Amino acid sequence: MDHYDIIIVGLGPVGLFAANVFGEKGWKVLAIEQHSERWKYPRAIGMDDEILRNLQTINLSSAVLPRTRTIKGLQLLRRDNEVFFTLSNPQDGDFEKGPYLFYQPEFESILEEGAKRFHNVKLLYNCQLESFNNVKNGVDVSCLDKNNPQFIQKFQGRFLIGCDGANSTVRNELGIKENSLNYNGHILKIDAIANDVSKFNFNIDYAQKYCSTKRAWVRMIGRDLHCRWEFQFKGENPDPNALTEESALRYIKEAGDDVENIEIINVSFYKYRSVVQQKWRDGNVLIAGDAAHLTAPYIGQGMCGGFRDIINLSWKLEGIINREFSRDILSTYRSERSPHMKHLIRIAISVGYLFKTRLYYILLFLKLIPFLKLNDGEFNPPVPKLGRGFFSKRKYSRGIFPQFKLKTSEGEVINSDDYLGHDWVLISSEAISDNDLRFCQRSGVKLMITDVQKDTQMKINNWLKEKNVKVVLLRPDKYIFSSGNQAQQVLNDYQKLNMNYR
Ligand SMILES: Cc1cc2nc3c(=O)[nH]c(=O)nc-3n(C[C@H](O)[C@H](O)[C@H](O)COP(=O)(O)OP(=O)(O)OC[C@H]3O[C@@H](n4cnc5c(N)ncnc54)[C@H](O)[C@@H]3O)c2cc1C
Repeated sequence: MDHYDIIIVGLGPVGLFAANVFGEKGWKVLAIEQHSERWKYPRAIGMDDEILRNLQTINLSSAVLPRTRTIKGLQLLRRDNEVFFTLSNPQDGDFEKGPYLFYQPEFESILEEGAKRFHNVKLLYNCQLESFNNVKNGVDVSCLDKNNPQFIQKFQGRFLIGCDGANSTVRNELGIKENSLNYNGHILKIDAIANDVSKFNFNIDYAQKYCSTKRAWVRMIGRDLHCRWEFQFKGENPDPNALTEESALRYIKEAGDDVENIEIINVSFYKYRSVVQQKWRDGNVLIAGDAAHLTAPYIGQGMCGGFRDIINLSWKLEGIINREFSRDILSTYRSERSPHMKHLIRIAISVGYLFKTRLYYILLFLKLIPFLKLNDGEFNPPVPKLGRGFFSKRKYSRGIFPQFKLKTSEGEVINSDDYLGHDWVLISSEAISDNDLRFCQRSGVKLMITDVQKDTQMKINNWLKEKNVKVVLLRPDKYIFSSGNQAQQVLNDYQKLNMNYR
């Protein structure tokens, strides 16, 4: 039987990303997929800036970024496609929050090629997970080899991660129950390629949502010539006749768009649900991505949530594999990630109500109050913090530390995440005591004393000043573990919590 550190089930975007993250750590990884190849049509279309930061950790952001397109924000439309509300994208640090629009098959091919960089990662298509057993310090896994259906393949892993989507076999085998947020529906998704995007008679620099109680829709121009329309359907049984190309063109025409300019590439119905699973781990088995949570796609956070799950897991698994943490630290995975995801699902539900019910009239009314300056404002929903887990209780903890563009003395521009590295980092605006220094060295915490003379560190120093703290301790995933005015306090927090998971 072949042995692996990690066995990933499912090669959707989350499984492919996980294969890169764990492969980059040098672990022996097996990633299996039941189909013979990746899904060739796009579903997700946008990612936020945090996901680009995640891609930075596996050296793929420079390959992905040029293949994205940023848009200026969101516009709400009503009768006769009149724009009645415009919201622009906010900044976070020196970066636009996004969405960064991408073409999923192209994005996944970058992820797949990325995973193939690692000789320690094996991608196995046509291999379907059948069953598994938690055993001491690992998992025994049985899979069906679809090239040879008589043949059951057996593997052993230290951990099994189910990235196997909404109908997850891993989750079903574990009998995990769901918490539903009771917001479900159907979308007719139409993808097309335009001859010339500049020929459309609408503003392609915005994602546009048409507000209607009868048939709301969304349209956006993605990367290059990719165009997406999503029509909302009520009820449980959407019309199967809508799936023809002819019918798709009719819908687009009714939305007021030029069908001569496009060629349809895919029409499908999607049932969306709003769900967070009650358990995300059983022994050495974990679930991530759509297997762990599902959201209505109105703010484009399903796949993004899955990437955050993997980043959250990666340094915890690393601690276990390097014998720095006990497996108990995995209890913080769901406690941190689930409230964050729930928050985003609730925002998606609010957006759904806003553009599919009469609630949008409230916006029309609020817009009339000049004092509120609601139109042309920034769309800046509060960024959720992670839930409680491996964090101190001090201010700013559980929030993500922003990323800045830093200038080196040679004039080169670098991203602060690359500058800070991907380990624990203590950033302090003042020198720290010898004791604290020794503690950092012993526990592998990288130290950065911000030097106001250095251009590279100025922006980080300014952030500390603005927040009125002198020290901040960052986790490897760039979430703030603790902050304060004395390094000793913050390091004490770290030491105490560490003891709980030894
Ligand atoms: C219309 C629409 C628009 C969306 N827009 C966005 C967006 O803009 N941004 C965003 O972040 N998200 C978006 N999403 C959500 C996003 O598409 C999903 O969250 C994402 O695809 C989930 O990825 P995953 O890897 O977890 O699961 P999946 O993509 O479902 O992949 C799971 C994989 O596991 C495989 N598998 C299943 N069972 C087994 C088994 N037993 N053995 C082996 N393999 C198995 C499957 O074949 C599949 O390949 C959108 C969704 C829809 C429908």
